[in-house]
Amino acid sequence: MAGHTYQAPRGTFDVLPDAARVRRRIEHTAAAIFARAGYEPIATPAFEDTELFERGVGHSTDIVRKEMFTFEDKGGRSLTLRPEGTAAICRAYLEHGMHKLAQPVKLAYLGPFFRHERPQAGRYRQFHQLGAEAIGSDSPLADAELIGMFAELVAELGVPGVELRLGSLGSVETRAAYLDELKAHLRAHEADLAEGVRERIDANPLRAFDSDDEGTRAVMAAAPKLVERLEGEDAEHFAEVRRLLEACGVAYEIDPTLVRGLDYYTRTIFSFVCDRLGAQSEIGGGGRYDGLIEQLGGKPTPAIGWAAGIERIALALDEELPAPGRDVLVAVAGEQGERRSLALVLAGELRKAGLSAEIDLGGRGLKGQLKHADRVGARRVVILEEDGGAQLRDMTSGEQRPVDTGNLIEELTGGEA
Ligand code: AMP
Repeated sequence: MAGHTYQAPRGTFDVLPDAARVRRRIEHTAAAIFARAGYEPIATPAFEDTELFERGVGHSTDIVRKEMFTFEDKGGRSLTLRPEGTAAICRAYLEHGMHKLAQPVKLAYLGPFFRHERPQAGRYRQFHQLGAEAIGSDSPLADAELIGMFAELVAELGVPGVELRLGSLGSVETRAAYLDELKAHLRAHEADLAEGVRERIDANPLRAFDSDDEGTRAVMAAAPKLVERLEGEDAEHFAEVRRLLEACGVAYEIDPTLVRGLDYYTRTIFSFVCDRLGAQSEIGGGGRYDGLIEQLGGKPTPAIGWAAGIERIALALDEELPAPGRDVLVAVAGEQGERRSLALVLAGELRKAGLSAEIDLGGRGLKGQLKHADRVGARRVVILEEDGGAQLRDMTSGEQRPVDTGNLIEELTGGEA
């Protein structure tokens, strides 16, 4: 056998140019939406102290129990590749005293995240999220603004078949009382539950709503629902979020079974799902995490945020963006010699003027350079001739005429073909 060939690690992938252009469109569209709404960019490290995620995401979650890429550094510290963005942003909020700024602090991010999951379409071990957080406001306005921004992203990108599911987990107290009620229901029907659900009645009973198991699903259909147990300020908060979404024309479905796989959520939770995707149908989601900052050592600070999966959005868009072509290719006729540097300098000037300009880097003859111009979609070619003159060739019509290289920018931007 010939030498060893290498492949991208399991659960990872390369993004080749046609796909990378689509991702850029997604990222630029999101960045513009964040900027217009006053969400400032933030970036945090790709790894953090393991404890941050254990405390922040929750010990009983699938992410912490099974999916973290955890390693020891040379100093014996336990580090983990970040599985999600919110815990680290809250850590940064506390570390940099952002509570002293005008509240809420509105932040947006984008980057790679890592979970040791079983790979399948739309589920990877390294994936990319973009997201936004508003830290320091309990106003339903923040909920509605953030959810509205996600809806705007979906609309502006043209992602088909998207639906917004909305729920509320209430406050910690409402949730605790509800969880007791739910656990009692699960215990009463223990025999009908899948083993994995039965084992975790105490640790994480809400996840039973996510089960694919038929017996479990039947038990859950009859289970008490948290949205029906909301009281007082929780109920008012949720009603106001709904009213604001309606005022903004954001369509939603109330989903009483909605749970999210992270422990830190309180009150509003939401999920954007897309019917063009298979089993992994969620393109993004989020919710309130009013207890998280305190959990991480800060003062009680209400907050809300969401994250969207760039791969899932790209899958749902199912598009390819071909290379955009070039305004001009600067070619050299005959013996190249000195005039290669001329071509390089000229292409540089054209680029500075805002045109896309290529030169041949492959040592091709004139015929080969013209072929290359065709291949890269150059609309025109400037041919530097041996006698010091130059020709401008229109690649669509094939017409060619002498041109003054000193006047080229004007010639090329002057509107004629
Ligand atoms: P979460 O942080 O679990 O709330 O996930 C937010 C979004 O990130 C999901 O809706 C997905 O779009 C995306 N996502 C989460 N995990 C993965 C994964 N393993 N592979 C690809 N995308 C993911």
